Amino acid sequence: MIKTHAIVLHRFPYSDSSFIVKVLTEESGIVSFIVKGGKKKESPFRGALDPLALSEVVFRQNPNTELQFIKEATLLDWHKDLRNDLLSLAKAQVITEMILRYAPQGVPLQEEFERLEQALSEFNECCSSTNAPNAATSAETPSTKSATSPHATDKSNIFAHWLLDTCDMWGYNLDLETCSRCGKTLDKPAADFFPETGGFICESCLGVDTPRARTETLNGLWALRNGNKIEHPEFTENALLTYLRHHIGFLREIHSIKFLNETRKLFGQSQ
Ligand SMILES: [Zn+2]
Repeated sequence: MIKTHAIVLHRFPYSDSSFIVKVLTEESGIVSFIVKGGKKKESPFRGALDPLALSEVVFRQNPNTELQFIKEATLLDWHKDLRNDLLSLAKAQVITEMILRYAPQGVPLQEEFERLEQALSEFNECCSSTNAPNAATSAETPSTKSATSPHATDKSNIFAHWLLDTCDMWGYNLDLETCSRCGKTLDKPAADFFPETGGFICESCLGVDTPRARTETLNGLWALRNGNKIEHPEFTENALLTYLRHHIGFLREIHSIKFLNETRKLFGQSQ
């Protein structure tokens, strides 16, 4: 019997009353459960097997079948405040879908588990503080608070940070501070970035050429390197997504990106 923490990545209906639930476990990587009667109101798993929930699960791993029977599931953290913030929710869904599609199957993914739980907690924390009555006013005044503390979590860089760490975890480390042409260490935002190769170019190497990357992307990647607030996170996120998908070597469609782009439009951010 295996007892481990798990984060629900995906859940879909199976027959009239059952679910198939895919979770990222702390100890056994990605596991698929068939949850018979999971749709019923009196199901003992309700809540604990909702997408993005952190739960403790107990199951017996049968190596002969892909679908495991779950014995127990106890909800530890539903990430309630994250669910009330549409843009954060959309980003969290892209993260879980990327893990589901791109993470290696059938192997332990402890680092991926820890990094995912960190991102979900950070989203949840930032969303709960923006919902608090006093935070609304302070959030509107421009503040350099995050610049003084590199570990300060700002909602704008959670997804980008997860993408950057995931590049690293999956062996596609992105060097944010070196010019890929002359090897010099950058002391300000790069003059250009090529998401296909992950190469940054310094001002003198770029010379009179027109950069292909937008200023928002270059400033955002620099802010990410320094742990600062990212002004237009969608550009940085898209640049990192492009880089990662080029390096993963296959381009399976991430369906939830469509939802993220719709949500960004709703919040007045360009794609
Ligand atoms: Zn250079």
